[in-house]
Amino acid sequence: MITALITGITGQDGSYLTELLLDKGYQVHGLVRRHSSTKRRRLDHLFADPSIYGRRLHLHYADLDDPTTIRRVLTTVEPDELYHLAGQSHVGASFEIPESTCDTTAMGTLRLLEIIRDLPKRPRMLQTSSSEIFGRPDTTPQSEATPHRPVTPYGVAKTFATDMVRVYRESFDFFACNAICYNHESPRRGESFVTRKISRGVAAIARGETDHLTLGSLDARRDWGFAPEYVAGMWQMLQHDTPDDYVLATGRSHSLQDFLEAAFAVVDRDYRDHIRTDPRFVRPAEVHHLVGDPSKAVAELGWRAQTGLQELARIMVEHDLQHPSL
Ligand code: GDP
Repeated sequence: MITALITGITGQDGSYLTELLLDKGYQVHGLVRRHSSTKRRRLDHLFADPSIYGRRLHLHYADLDDPTTIRRVLTTVEPDELYHLAGQSHVGASFEIPESTCDTTAMGTLRLLEIIRDLPKRPRMLQTSSSEIFGRPDTTPQSEATPHRPVTPYGVAKTFATDMVRVYRESFDFFACNAICYNHESPRRGESFVTRKISRGVAAIARGETDHLTLGSLDARRDWGFAPEYVAGMWQMLQHDTPDDYVLATGRSHSLQDFLEAAFAVVDRDYRDHIRTDPRFVRPAEVHHLVGDPSKAVAELGWRAQTGLQELARIMVEHDLQHPSL
């Protein structure tokens, strides 16, 4: 049986990856931060199944700034594959808390690489990188060869982590990959990200709880895909013969207004009647023209994003209409 360890198992991607690996017959171990609250709603359905939790799914307490504990877990679990998904993932928040963002995302990754370096049996390793490493690029779409020019603290931290993973691969013969992920969304996306904020807002408006939704800049454009497909791409990277970096993206860019239109269309409303803007949600700096070129993942892994923007918006709004509290 193959054993995987996931950092960030309670997040959007961690929960989808856990389901995918359990379906494939893996033993799955996850690292979780110690909180006084034990709420882990994205995994609740798996905890409720006695044939899974404690048998094929195991959680361990370990923070990314606690290398002793991480080393102990790795030595005990001896994973075949390690998926490093943990870190402060909100770009806007990274302007408010740059130091802790860099500590978890940049230094957390380096600490993990250093621990793996000393293991007698090194797992194959994947780091989730981000389109934010490209910042304001000269070329569109961006590929694995596009220079890194981050413009946000989060982007800087991800650039460090991404380059360090490559350095360890090239210098110490690690089987280590970067999944350079463009935005990927789902009903499990945290509610401070714009797509989920919108899908929850649309559902609240449809229920009559409010008549408006407050956002920042409506000019933003993103390459938005569906998260379960992206974690499948991460798994495919670790099954490939050779380790490498791959862009995971749809290859299509949409404006925030396109997403708003699609989301409000699900409840037969016009977003222009319900949107207010507030400079509080505008960021000090924004990435520009980010759209990914996934052709290397398509050619080498046979990976392809399937879900388009309209469908993505529909999945998210319908979920939030059915589950107001999740
Ligand atoms: P990001 O690409 O990882 O930063 O994903 P987000 O979902 O947080 O933001 C996507 C884009 O939406 C960014 O350009 C934001 O500036 C823009 N945006 C506009 N209004 C909002 C808002 O109210 N919240 C968030 N999170 N983003 C917003």
